[in-house]
Amino acid sequence: MPAITRQMLRDYLHDSLPESEMAAVEKALRGSKQFHALLAEVREEEDRGEHSVGAIWRRERVSCPTRDQLGGHLLGAGDPDLLQYIEFHLETIGCPYCAANLDDLKKLQGG
Ligand SMILES: [Zn+2]
Repeated sequence: MPAITRQMLRDYLHDSLPESEMAAVEKALRGSKQFHALLAEVREEEDRGEHSVGAIWRRERVSCPTRDQLGGHLLGAGDPDLLQYIEFHLETIGCPYCAANLDDLKKLQGG
C-alpha cells in the first residue's frame, strides 16, 4: 500500500485522486481512526481557505497537456513555452492525472 500523504487526502477530498490511490485511502480510512483525524485536519485546512495556486488549479483541472505534449516534455522537445507550462503543471500544480500519465509514458519508453 502506498503511504498516505496529506496531499493524497486533500486530493481525496476534492475527488481528484487516481483510482488506485483512492482505494488505498479508503482502505486506510476504514482501518484507522488516526487517518480519520488526519482527514478531518486536512478538511479543516481546506475549509479555512488555503487556496494556493496549486490547489485551485488542481480543483479546476484546467488545461492538462495532451499525452503527446507530455511525451515531448519527457524528451525535452517542443515549444519552450509549452514545456515550461508542462513543468509548472506537473511541479507547481502537481496534477495527479498528468503525473500518472507521465509515469505511464516513461514505462512505455522503457525508462
Ligand atoms: Zn494535468
